[in-house]
Amino acid sequence: MKVVNDYHMHTKLSPCSGDPEATIANFVRILAERGFKSICITDHYWTRPENILENNPDLKGPFPETLKQILENKKMVESTEFPMKVLVGAEIETYSPDCIGGTLELKEMLDVVLLPTDHFHLTSIIQQPDDHSFAGWGKHIMKFFIAGAKSRVGHVLAHPFVPMGEHHEAPREVLDTISDAEFFDALSIANEYDNAIEINGGCLADPVLNEALVRPYTIAKKAGCKFTFGSDTHRVSTLDRYDLMERFCDTCGITEDDLSSIMIR
Ligand SMILES: [Zn+2]
Ligand SMILES: [Zn+2]
Repeated sequence: MKVVNDYHMHTKLSPCSGDPEATIANFVRILAERGFKSICITDHYWTRPENILENNPDLKGPFPETLKQILENKKMVESTEFPMKVLVGAEIETYSPDCIGGTLELKEMLDVVLLPTDHFHLTSIIQQPDDHSFAGWGKHIMKFFIAGAKSRVGHVLAHPFVPMGEHHEAPREVLDTISDAEFFDALSIANEYDNAIEINGGCLADPVLNEALVRPYTIAKKAGCKFTFGSDTHRVSTLDRYDLMERFCDTCGITEDDLSSIMIR
């Protein structure tokens, strides 16, 4: 299967980008040459007032200006002729299972809302587990995932089951504490509540994480989930992760028929 969509792209509007070349026009130019059919721009949109990264006063929410800019981008792409379909959405946030930074109204306003449920590296804003063992993190990750899936505020669950933060170097050890049945039940809920599951190129670029994600994604396919592709690029230099996604799909048995209809092919 050829990847011809990228539904997770950060421009320079995202504070973690730092690449002045990361613009919609540049992304379109580069990917149109490679035969892409559609992309979706998904800059971060945080709604809470805390510092996003500890000790970084420049990264302090809320970001009403960001939403304003995202909506301006949406208006701009709707009135511009591009050689492919260009959509505008956002990547929002799960602060805790009881506090998700999105609403059904926001979902209506944007083309695609990505809901990550595992940004645990943002320790100043994301609830950390009481139990810091591998098993404790496994439970925490599943609780966030199921809460995000049931919230319905996102179209796509972005890069699920990634133990970012404390154990980011030991994803296998964390995910091994979650059984096939637990994954199947959680992914069935995600599917039942109409969430697509993202295949994230940034995560697949880490060989250890890539290998650890094969089991949950193989189970996701069995649970009937539909998938989207997202490079999670924050700059123009990382628009090169699509072959990783193609190989990962082959490994997990994911085919064209398993792709979400949200992706314009
Ligand atoms: Zn993310
Ligand atoms: Zn992202």
